[in-house]
Order: sequence, then C-alpha cells, then structure tokens
Amino acid sequence: LDYSVEQEWHNPRIVPYQPIVLDPAAKVFHYGQTIFEGLKAYKTADGRIRLFRPRDNFARMNRSNDRMSVPELDIDTAITALERLIEVDADWVPTEPGTSLYIRPYVFATQATLGVAPSENYQFIIIMSPVGAYYPEGMNPVKIYVESDYVRAMVGGVGEAKTAGNYAAALKSQQIAKEQGYTQVLWLDGAEHKYIEEVGSMNVFFKIGGKVITPALNGSILAGITRNSVLQLLKHWGISVEERRLSIDEIYEAAEQGLLEEAFGTGTAAVISPIGEVNWGGQKLVIGEGRTGELTNKLYDTLTGIQYGTVEDPFGWTREVGAG
Ligand code: PMP
Repeated sequence: LDYSVEQEWHNPRIVPYQPIVLDPAAKVFHYGQTIFEGLKAYKTADGRIRLFRPRDNFARMNRSNDRMSVPELDIDTAITALERLIEVDADWVPTEPGTSLYIRPYVFATQATLGVAPSENYQFIIIMSPVGAYYPEGMNPVKIYVESDYVRAMVGGVGEAKTAGNYAAALKSQQIAKEQGYTQVLWLDGAEHKYIEEVGSMNVFFKIGGKVITPALNGSILAGITRNSVLQLLKHWGISVEERRLSIDEIYEAAEQGLLEEAFGTGTAAVISPIGEVNWGGQKLVIGEGRTGELTNKLYDTLTGIQYGTVEDPFGWTREVGAG
C-alpha cells in the first residue's frame, strides 16, 4: 500500500519479493519515521493456517503510528492484505512441529525532503519467512545481561512504539552482552536505572514466593501481545498476577531469601523463554538451578497448543486464514 495526502492509503498490490527504490532524501533514512510489527501464522495438523491475534498486532501498529505521526491504517484492510499474501504462498507455512511463518508488516516515510516534519508519503509492506522451531530440543534457559549504563527508552519517549530507533539504541548493549556470553539485555528504567522494564525482544515475568509479577506498562515498555496472552491465561487459571514497578534489587533480595522461583520472557519469536541466569554489574544470579520452571513450561505448552490448534482457544485469539 502507498500513502499520499491526496489519496490516503491506496494501490494495494502483491509483487514478487524484490528490492525497493527510494529517493536518497526519503525521510525514513534521516529521521527514522518507521514502524514495524511481528506476528506469526501456524499450520494445524489438518493443514489449516491460523494467525495469532493479528487484530491486536495491527491495533498496536496504529498506536505506534500515532506516536510517530504516521497515518493510521485500516485494520480490516491490513488483515485482508495479509491473508491474501499468505494464500499466494500457502505452502510457505511449514508443517514440521514447532515451525511457523514469521510475518513482518512495516511502514516507512518516503517523502523526499530534508525538512524535519512528518512525511506526506509512506509505504506499507508485509514480508514473511518460514522459521524453524525455536526450541528443537526442549526449552533452553537464556542468560540475561542487565544494562546499567545505557537506557533503551524513557517514559514520555517512544519506548512503547515499535519503532526502529528503539532497536538501534539497543544494539551497542546487545553487542557488549554477547561478548560476555549473554543472549539478551535486560533494560532498566531511564530515570533511576533501578526498575525492570523488558529485555531486547521480550517482556519479563518473575515468580516470587508463589506470586507472579511483571513490570506495569508505563509508556516506555512495549505492550507485548504475548505478555497480554500470559496475563489473560494466568487470570483464567485463577493465578493472581501483579503488574507493578519491580526493582532489580527486589529480584536479588528474593533470590537471597530463596523466594525467586521462576523467571521467563514472553515474545512472538520464542513465545515463552525461561530465564536461567541474570548478571547485574558482575553479580550473577542463577534461577531455578538453570532448569525450566513448572509454570513456565505450562504457559509454553498451553500457548503453543492454542497456536497449533491442539489446545482449545477460549479467548478467540486465533483466526483462520481465508475463513472470512
Ligand atoms: N519488547 C520488545 C522490545 C519487543 O521487540 C518485543 C517483540 N515484539 C516484545 C517486547 C514482545 O512483544 P510480543 O509479545 O508482541 O512479540
């Protein structure tokens, strides 16, 4: 789809995967006015293709668009476009256990002027790729590096928008973490460097003394769709969850008292990811002896079961492609 002030969103089309031509002055290159989303399609045992919460992804895209002064997209048009695209290459949705089709919708500013102002032209594109099983041999706890110098986002900034700049701001810390043998960065709040926000591509949950706790959405954390699914599932199971400010000190203190039972990340890519180790300024914390916790396993099995159609979906989260 293209956007112009006169025609608004227009010219929907499906074309073979190919490079796109942009003017060197296109605003996206200079001012980063761009938004993306990430969601997945799954094939059920009987060959049907299902999307997981696509409406919620496009609704989040519109919230990101609003923050970044990008014109709103019609959600039904976006879902229809996505379904048409999947139908063209339905064989692309892999069938092996644990595999899926990763879908990347994105929008970017194409107007060729260097003035700092919202663009008058945009393109909306969807690309996709089959992805293998995230955990082909059982869940593997991730090791997490707590970043105490740099911050990813500030309250009032663009942290809750899924915009490229947040990820660019994270690259250096990710590099440092990787050099030290850690897979993900845990971000602390921008004001006090004290409260837990999220990791690179996941929201985080901790089970402390029988209670499940996750940082409250504060404007600088991405409102993960998987985070929301976990909250709904836990409530459905009668497990109480606290959404509140959670300091990194509290995690270390809970561990010292033997109360830190489980930790996991939530995100589209891995769905649920056990956290086995945290390193904050050189202080290492091993969680659950590096093994995956019971609740973490149950959430993983239930959510992936709903996605692949082997567990009933009481929430209406899945949408069959082509079913109207
Ligand atoms: N936080 C960040 C910064 C992310 O990039 C993602 C991945 N989209 C998440 C959290 C998890 O969000 P979701 O569950 O919607 O994939």
